[in-house]
Amino acid sequence: MNVCHGRVQHLYNQSISISNSITGDLNTEENKLKIAMIREFVTNILVMCQKSRLRIAPNLKRNICKGCNVILVSGITAKIRLQSKNKTPLFNKKCLLCTYSTNYPQVNHKDVYVDKFTKLS
Ligand SMILES: [Zn+2]
Repeated sequence: MNVCHGRVQHLYNQSISISNSITGDLNTEENKLKIAMIREFVTNILVMCQKSRLRIAPNLKRNICKGCNVILVSGITAKIRLQSKNKTPLFNKKCLLCTYSTNYPQVNHKDVYVDKFTKLS
C-alpha cells in the first residue's frame, strides 16, 4: 500500500465528517467556511493522485462533484434520485452548490441501502 493511499483516505474521511456537520442554510458564514475547507481537501486529493499517478477508487470518485470539487452527501450538498425508466436503474446525483448533475448505473444493490442509511442517520 502506497503512503498516498492513507493520506487520500484520511483527507476523504475528514471532508466527509465536515460535510456531515453542515446544518441548515448553505449560504451562512460558518457553512461557507466549511465548504471552502472541503474544497481544499478535495483539491489536495485530486492533486496528490495526479502527481503520484494513483487511480481514485470509483466509489470515492463518484462522491466528488466535478463542477466545484465538493463531497456529495445526500441531503446536505447533493440531491440523489434513483431513475428506473430503463432496464438498468441509474443514480442521478445533483450538486446543490453548482447544479452539476451526473448519472451513475446502479451496479450493486447494496448502494441503495447505503444511501438510505446515510440519509436516515
Ligand atoms: Zn458542485
